[in-house]
Amino acid sequence: MSEKPSVRTITEQARDIKVCREADVVVVGGGPGGIGSAIAAARTGADTVLIERYGHLGGMATGGLINILPNLSDISGKQHIYGLNQEIIDRMEKRDAAFYPRKKDWGTADKELVDFYNDTGLNLFYVRKDPNMGGKERVMYTAVVDPEVLKDELNDMVQEAGVDLWLHSWGTRPIMEGNTVKGVYFESKSGRQAILGKVVIDSTGDGDIFVEAGAEFDGELNNKYRTAWMASTFWMTDVNIKKADDFKASQPEKFAELMQELLKLGGYPHYLKGILGNQRNVLWYHSFQIQPEASDGKDVRELTRVDVRGRKRAVTTYEFMKKNIPGFENCYIMQTAPQLGIQGGRRVIGEYILDDKDMVSDEVHEDTIVVLANNDNGEISARHPSICIPYRCLVPKEVDGLLVACRAFSSTDSVNMYFNIIPPCIAYGQAAGTAAALAIDAGVQPRKVDYKALHKNLVKQGVNLPDTK
Ligand SMILES: Cc1cc2nc3c(=O)[nH]c(=O)nc-3n(C[C@H](O)[C@H](O)[C@H](O)COP(=O)(O)OP(=O)(O)OC[C@H]3O[C@@H](n4cnc5c(N)ncnc54)[C@H](O)[C@@H]3O)c2cc1C
Repeated sequence: MSEKPSVRTITEQARDIKVCREADVVVVGGGPGGIGSAIAAARTGADTVLIERYGHLGGMATGGLINILPNLSDISGKQHIYGLNQEIIDRMEKRDAAFYPRKKDWGTADKELVDFYNDTGLNLFYVRKDPNMGGKERVMYTAVVDPEVLKDELNDMVQEAGVDLWLHSWGTRPIMEGNTVKGVYFESKSGRQAILGKVVIDSTGDGDIFVEAGAEFDGELNNKYRTAWMASTFWMTDVNIKKADDFKASQPEKFAELMQELLKLGGYPHYLKGILGNQRNVLWYHSFQIQPEASDGKDVRELTRVDVRGRKRAVTTYEFMKKNIPGFENCYIMQTAPQLGIQGGRRVIGEYILDDKDMVSDEVHEDTIVVLANNDNGEISARHPSICIPYRCLVPKEVDGLLVACRAFSSTDSVNMYFNIIPPCIAYGQAAGTAAALAIDAGVQPRKVDYKALHKNLVKQGVNLPDTK
């Protein structure tokens, strides 16, 4: 039956909504940006509420099965991102739930190590060609974490910080007074309720709150960038990877032919080898779907189609591999990601828009909140290994009472794709949460926060920032 789009509208009746909580800071979304925001705000002394639509924290890093924290160092092996990112990795390591190259190997061109990472298929994250060394491949500091342990660790961290956590709560609209956000409405099994806050941080990834607050945003997406592709991720286990590797090495043409056949059937042939200590027989499938049109993943009908197609694709892959590829005889799908993989979308127009010129700039902004390894996999990162991100990228141009700390930070599409990944989002959150608490303390709007105080506070938290004097 073909779908007939309806043009009818109805008017929702006005009703009183229960205010269930009044807080200093309300963070909406508990992904990398949200956990950074909430932990930092609470640690800086703000009464902080975190609302998350799913039953766990971590966003794509857990529920999306995207457990890779890349580009913690630049191409030479020099670490740039510290702060909360490093703290999370340290805590995960203590629980034997993190893997990364030993510190002495960051930046190494040692062939055995380079080959190891290339073989896993994770080379995109661990190995980079250095034009300064004639294109030689070098190993980067990238960490991989166990998503199930991470969910538990993040619960511990937010609770230790004193964050008031509300799971299963879907933030719907900001509460506005003029152009100032005063809280959020959210839906849950307890019905529609409101939480008032002095500063709201939109960490939904998709900009759900700032769009409704009337903030200007850029929705441009281009299919040539990964940010326009959606994905449904799954993990396959009980694979005899050595046997599969031997088959591929001994019969490369046959293997390639079978993978072509799998593609034609609608399956997904590309996998990464799990390198966590407890996952030696697990494969990670980041099953990308390149849409005919670039998509910001906000159309629920499209999300439905992508999910249905992704599930079919996972099972088609499983059935085909099991039947045809030596080593996959006993395999099964260990888990499919509950969170659909949205890589990019609406980005707030902030007081500063990060764009192509920043990729080749060594400017130290007076409001620098994080230094990130440049990430273009080529000439630019060799000449400009790192870049400084200004706080103004998190501050909407016109709306007050609001910060944006997630992949929807203020940036052009062409640059967003390099810096919207997990570690930067945690760092944006750490800065936003700190700034929100400082602004409330000083009785000013977040855009008026004292950059020097913010800098000092972030450095105290272990964030690596250049001297801005
Ligand atoms: C297939 C794929 C592969 C990727 N590979 C990597 C990689 O290897 N390494 C890497 O670092 N990055 C990778 N990324 C990118 C990275 O996962 C994201 O850019 C990053 O997770 C963004 O963090 P975030 O906090 O902005 O958003 P998300 O991780 O999407 O978190 C947003 C959170 O907000 C919640 N939420 C959303 N809307 C609402 C609402 N209205 N109310 C309440 N809660 C809400 C969500 O449930 C979620 O928990 C990949 C992405 C995809 C899709």
